[in-house]
Parts: sequence; C-alpha cells; structure tokens
Amino acid sequence: MTFATLGLIEPLLRSLEKLGYQTPTPVQAQAVPAVLAGRDLMAAAQTGTGKTAGFALPLLQLLAMEGPKVTANSVRALILVPTRELAEQVHEAVRQYAENLPLRTYAVYGGVSINPQMMKLRSGVDLLVATPGRLLDLFRQNALKFNQLQTLVLDEADRMLDLGFSEELANIYKALPKKRQTLLFSATFSDDIRLLAGQMLNDPLSIEVSPRNVAANTVKQWIVTVDKKRKPELFVHLMRKGKWKQVLVFAKTRNGVDALVEKLQGLGINADGIHGDKPQATRQRALDRFKASEVQILVATDVAARGLDIEDLPLVVNFDLPIVAEDYIHRIGRTGRAGSTGEAISLVCADEVNLLSAIEMLTRQTLKRQNEPDFEPEHRVPDTDASGQVIKKPKKPKKPKASGGGGGKRNLGKWVDSGEVAPAEPSIKPVRKVPVFNTGPRKRKP
Ligand code: AMP
Repeated sequence: MTFATLGLIEPLLRSLEKLGYQTPTPVQAQAVPAVLAGRDLMAAAQTGTGKTAGFALPLLQLLAMEGPKVTANSVRALILVPTRELAEQVHEAVRQYAENLPLRTYAVYGGVSINPQMMKLRSGVDLLVATPGRLLDLFRQNALKFNQLQTLVLDEADRMLDLGFSEELANIYKALPKKRQTLLFSATFSDDIRLLAGQMLNDPLSIEVSPRNVAANTVKQWIVTVDKKRKPELFVHLMRKGKWKQVLVFAKTRNGVDALVEKLQGLGINADGIHGDKPQATRQRALDRFKASEVQILVATDVAARGLDIEDLPLVVNFDLPIVAEDYIHRIGRTGRAGSTGEAISLVCADEVNLLSAIEMLTRQTLKRQNEPDFEPEHRVPDTDASGQVIKKPKKPKKPKASGGGGGKRNLGKWVDSGEVAPAEPSIKPVRKVPVFNTGPRKRKP
C-alpha cells in the first residue's frame, strides 16, 4: 500500500516524499480514506504510530479541494490539543505536510501574548491548532468565528479530560456549528472518553490499531527497585554504566524536576528541566536544545512532556512512577516511535508499589525486575503481577528467644510484608470519574 493508493493528492505526496514517509502506518491506512469520505472518527492508536499524519493529511486535502475561501477571523478546521508543546509539534507537522498547498495554518496557545495571535487571525486561518483555554479566550474576544468550521479534531482527548479541560470543551462545543466532521484521537480510551465520543460524534467509524491500553511493543521495559532516597545516586550510576547519551526523564512534581536537574548539573552533567511553572519560551528552548542533542538529560513532568515527538529517542527513564497509570503508556511512547526500538527504565521504591501494580494491570504485563548490585533497597518492593495484585509474602516468624520470655508481639503466620511501607497515594484510581461536560474546576493548566 502507498499513500497514493489511499487517494492523497499530488502536493501532499510530494511533501511526504520529502519527509521520507514511504508506507502508510496502520492508523494512517485506516484513517485517511475514512476522513476523505467525510466520516466521523473515533481512533485509538498507540503513541508514535503516526496518528498526526493520519488526521492531518486528509484534513488538508479536504480543505484544499472543498469549501469556500476562508473569511476574516474565521477558521475552517480546528485541531484541539492539550498542551502548548503539542500545539507547536502538531502545527509543525501540519506545516510540513501543507508545504505545497495554498492554505493558511496557525497555532494558538496560552502562556504567550494574545495580541499577535489576534492579529494573525484577522485574515482568517484554514487550519488552526489550539489549546482549549486560549481558543476560548480568543473566541470571547471576538478574534475568532466558527461559522465556517467544517472539521473538529480532538487530539489526545483523554489527556484533555485529565487536565480538567472538560468545561472548556463543553463551551467550545456549544459555539461550533452542529453540522461538521469530528475526529477524536486518543492514545488510550477511558469510559469518560467514550461518553464524550457519544456526545460529539455522528455515526463514527471506530479505529483501533492496537489492543486497548497496551504500550508499544518496540519498547524494552524494565524496572530497578531502589530506596527512594537513593534514586538520584542510582540514576547517575546507571547513566554512567550505560553510557546514556540522550535521556528523557520523568519526575512526578515540579520540585522533583528542579531538584534532579540541580543535582545533575552539580555533578557537571548536561541536564535541563521542563515543567508547567517555567515560561513557555524557556520550555521550548530546553526542548529544542534536547532535540538538537545540546542537552543530554531532559527532566520533565508529565504535563510538559505530553505528546512530544523526539526523533530516535533511545531511552526514557521514569525517575518516579506516574500517579495515573495511563501516563506510563504516554511516557514510554516517547521512545520506540515510528518503528524504531527504545528502552524504558523505571526506578521504583517501596511506596510506589501500588502505582507499579496499576501500570502492570493496565499494560497487561509484569515488568521485568533487574537488581542493581549495591542499590538493593532496604525497603523491599513487594512482588506484583499483571493481575493487579501486590503479592505479599509472609514475614519470617521470629525465632523464639532462648530465654523463652515470650514477652514481645509475634507475627507467626500472619501475612504481612516485611518491607511494606504505607503507599504515597491512598489508592490508585483510574483517571477521573466525573460526567464529561459537567466537571468541577480545572485542575491545572498545561
Ligand atoms: P505521531 O504518532 O503522529 O506523533 O508520529 C510519530 C512519528 O512518526 C513522527 O516523527 C512522524 O513524523 C513519523 N511518521 C508518521 N507517519 C510516518 C510514516 N508513514 N512513515 C515514516 N514516519 C512516519
């Protein structure tokens, strides 16, 4: 199968040739003809499978071949994404695909001045990539009209809900013409997403190119158990031992990112960090430098790293496990993209055992454990498996004291784990369980 047989027009084929895309990926093979035929789509695809081209190519073709010329402040196709970085990335891909077409494309997101965006929108845009918050700001300030809108794409829809964008999505939805094509893309599909799909899509074609919630099998995954306080030391040890050249590291919190970057820089290691507290320009610069191999270690929170496409990234390290198990799939999806192989290593301490168990249950696999000599944890990480169980081993009965005093408490025969430590999270819940269009206040902005 070729892109030509999917029905794509010559200007797009030329762009693909320039980019070196030879064969459509499975998601592209299914999505392109369906979108060209005007169908609504509900697509579950693994990260890194080429889903951006899957929706962008047919969308650009429809914009080029059909419909009226765009008028002032109007937009004909809208791609909603959860984060600023993803907005830039998707727009960059769109720009490359559309190189030979007379279409205007643009990206808007928060964290930067709104005025240049308003100016740019004045003459109308054929395809706009946007984060929900800034899109609504622009709409409310009359910088945007949706009367010409023919297609809406929700990219990483699950993440938009995780980030608390459901209220914004509901407001955007109200402002859009009812007659339109809607494409919903999501790496993972929760019940909330299915509900959202039910409300927004019209007789959608379902595309599922890989089993639900399974991480890319091109990524070799393993964990190293370690005590929490020794994680930085273990990271540096593994880095030197494995001669790591380019590593994307995920930490749970902004403070965690800063602390690790500071520690690495203090050791003379070329590291930088990105998280939601940093200005957009700083985040983008750190990312660009990492992509250009000018920075060796990029430490990030989930929100900042969502959806990033870094060519040939060999290794992802989970310095902390993610709170939401589905984020594990997104994180490791940063490596092993577009058919190349990758590696994902997680440093796991005892109080992350429930997070580990949730990940194994979601990905239906027991992650291989590798012990690192000299780093064996004092607080043992209980065994886990893909059934979601934390396997507790009986504590060895204490030897009766020679004196036969028998004063102390005994644990004879009781199933407790010797190394068990209270988990950091009270319990591991799947994403959120709230009605899609009636959720509480937004949790955080990307
Ligand atoms: P995505 O899943 O959309 O983020 O795409 C992942 C990576 O695969 C990006 O770097 C794309 O440029 C690349 N890609 C997408 N489709 C193809 C294709 N058909 N052939 C080669 N590379 C592709």
